[in-house]
Amino acid sequence: VTKIGVLTSGGDSPGMNAAIRAVVRTGNYYGLEVFGIMRGYSGIIDNDIVPMHSRSVANIIQRGGTILKTARCKEFFTPEGRLKAYNNLKKLGIDGLVIIGGDGSFRGADIFSREFDIPCIGLPGTIDKDIAGTDFTIGFDTAVNTAVEAIDKIRDTADAHDRLFIIEVMGRDAGYIALHSGIATGAEHILIPERKTDIEELVASLQEKERRKKLVNMVVVAEGDEFGGANEVAKVVKERLPTTDTRVCILGHIQRGGSPTCLDRLIASRMGYAAVESLLEGRHNVMVGILNNRMHYTLLERAVKSKQKISEEWIKIVKILAS
Ligand code: ATP
Repeated sequence: VTKIGVLTSGGDSPGMNAAIRAVVRTGNYYGLEVFGIMRGYSGIIDNDIVPMHSRSVANIIQRGGTILKTARCKEFFTPEGRLKAYNNLKKLGIDGLVIIGGDGSFRGADIFSREFDIPCIGLPGTIDKDIAGTDFTIGFDTAVNTAVEAIDKIRDTADAHDRLFIIEVMGRDAGYIALHSGIATGAEHILIPERKTDIEELVASLQEKERRKKLVNMVVVAEGDEFGGANEVAKVVKERLPTTDTRVCILGHIQRGGSPTCLDRLIASRMGYAAVESLLEGRHNVMVGILNNRMHYTLLERAVKSKQKISEEWIKIVKILAS
């Protein structure tokens, strides 16, 4: 491997810049030429590829978003699009790719590297933490901390008015942001897609807490829960508990932005470094993850198929601590 390209694809997440910086600087350290590819796979197809040096990534480790921009690229789903991409890479002599993104981006990388002889290394960049083979994904910690900060603020106003707040956090079909932010803010209930919610039980528990005059009531709902988010849950709760002052707050895109936390910067730096080392060692089609504080490599095809599991113990903790 002599020339490598780095791109960010799919949804953005805080810490992607730290990962780009690590890839560029580690590549430079080993004497590789590093190219930045703009707007995910679109940049390969449109030939929007720029040489990068140590200085191109100065002053970005602390910035959210991604200096390379990100996109969803329809053309990359087609064999013609991927052939065009390959030809463009070939023209520049790029013989290795680092893809920072979510499972969709890895699926694209896996298909691409099977069709053409371009080793691809994936770095898990998503706030959702919905990828197996790693304890952390780049951006998750920042997103959770942003959610916690916001929910703490909601708690103050909920407390002042004795209101019930139904708060929706992101995570698509994964409940990790809800689970972590809910526990960390002392939510009464956490609704996640990985578990069926017994709405009768939820209503009964809220009623019982109201009777006991438990002061703050917050329910954290993952956007992908079975009811379809906080508004839908609130509809049911309002119907069943008409005298309760129930409000909804959807945190939304603030969870994607902001300066990455120390943890996200650290894992992004370690993973970016390991991605380049992996290419030099001749690995291909793997995702770099961190498991039990060690680098861990998962075949891209496996990383996209399996999800992390949420253990029963987490659910038990939620129940006990919210009593
Ligand atoms: P996030 O999880 O944060 O949304 P993601 O990587 O899962 O990120 P997607 O929109 O699913 O985001 O995928 C990003 C891009 O990867 C797509 O727009 C497309 O260019 C490429 N891609 C995804 N799946 C495939 C596929 N099956 N074949 C080819 N390319 C794909």
